[in-house]
Amino acid sequence: MSVFTKIINGEIPSYKVAENEDFIAFLDINPNAKGHTLVVPKKEENKIFDLSKKAYQNLMDFSYDVAKALEKAVPCKRVGMSVIGLEVPHVHVHLIPLNEMADIQFAQKVKLTNDEFVALAEKIGSNFE
Ligand code: AMP
Repeated sequence: MSVFTKIINGEIPSYKVAENEDFIAFLDINPNAKGHTLVVPKKEENKIFDLSKKAYQNLMDFSYDVAKALEKAVPCKRVGMSVIGLEVPHVHVHLIPLNEMADIQFAQKVKLTNDEFVALAEKIGSNFE
């Protein structure tokens, strides 16, 4: 069982931003930039291109709505999108508020307090439509 399935099952906590029947979005715990959000299908699958076309399109649709909320909540030049999955083999889309190229590189991390994570998740979530 992946760490994300444990989050989906409520076994471990997350800073949840949005959710529907099939997807959940929560803050990355080790963010590249403030507001770095992960969008995850609730059904555990390893690789994104093992999804059916329909499931892939639904993931992109949900990611679009989360990105729109992120743009409203977190000032940035643009929201970047990345799919990796080398650390957690459960499909997820990284949505990252970008101001410079370094923000999309997974070498630079920002430290946030619990209160900052809570406030960010609340702010992004309140912009989710
Ligand atoms: P990757 O699988 O390489 O796309 O990276 C997995 C991402 O998940 C990394 O950016 C981690 O910081 C993030 N991550 C790992 N565990 C958690 C967790 N419990 N809550 C939130 N984000 C996590």
